[in-house]
Amino acid sequence: MEIAVVSGKGGTGKSSISAALVSLTNHSIAVDCDVDAANMYLLFQPKIEKEFKFISGKYALIDQDKCIQCGKCKSLCRFDAISIHEGQIEVDTVLCEGCSLCSRICPVKAICMKPIDQSRMYIGSFRYGRMVYGRLFPGEENSGKFVSVIRQHAHRLAEEEGFPNIILDGPPGIGCPVISTLTGADKAVIVTEPSLSGLSDMKRVINVARNFIDSIYVIINKYDLNVEMSEKIKLYCLQSSIPVVAELPFDKRVVEAMVAGRTIIESYPDSLVATRLMEVYRIIFEA
Ligand code: SF4
Ligand code: SF4
Repeated sequence: MEIAVVSGKGGTGKSSISAALVSLTNHSIAVDCDVDAANMYLLFQPKIEKEFKFISGKYALIDQDKCIQCGKCKSLCRFDAISIHEGQIEVDTVLCEGCSLCSRICPVKAICMKPIDQSRMYIGSFRYGRMVYGRLFPGEENSGKFVSVIRQHAHRLAEEEGFPNIILDGPPGIGCPVISTLTGADKAVIVTEPSLSGLSDMKRVINVARNFIDSIYVIINKYDLNVEMSEKIKLYCLQSSIPVVAELPFDKRVVEAMVAGRTIIESYPDSLVATRLMEVYRIIFEA
């Protein structure tokens, strides 16, 4: 079973909840889909066994020795990525969209396309199974595609090594990487917090998730910080036929445990947060 844990925004406690679910499964593939700011590896400290390059795109590179300065590439580039600087034709790699047009029309074949390949994907082992995660190099794009590639590797591992569960720690927001996290997952767990923005972000991510997944659950984290807003969230979920599977109280030991490199389940298994997450686990994985 593949479970996607997402939230409409950052800072809801999604990663600590994902990690707690990983420690409850005891035998799973943990996937950090937040390729812009992966952090699950910091907690679980996997032993890295494989590292792959992720080709996030390509850019045009001009061989100045071959260029005859005809200017065709400059006039045809629709992204204004080519300019003349100190008498030389140059490509602005930030503006270049990698469309390859210039390399095809250059009369002297002075332009080649270079892969953008600084981003990395890692596969490793940790105390509960295997971990797959990626780190998108700053400035590189295509995070949605990167998440898809990471999930493909996780699926292959699950099949080859017989892991029954994959837990996806999704990125914040509702953009491409979130859609790539949700597409094809069996169930979605949406983590929200009791605030106006928490409610509105939850609504947005529910609307996105509904396009891909039938089984959607909500966890209200730190519900006791604003009980009135928690009630509004529950009412919305009730009206939307989405079960609220846990209301987790604020407990600073969640962060304390994370700082110590452990989950709340590992450090404080008798806490109310841990008890309620065990119930979430039972509902989601065993129902
Ligand atoms: S099309 Fe080729 S030869 Fe012409 S300016 Fe561009 S790089 Fe130089
Ligand atoms: S690859 Fe496309 S976007 Fe990049 S410089 Fe060439 S024509 Fe412009």
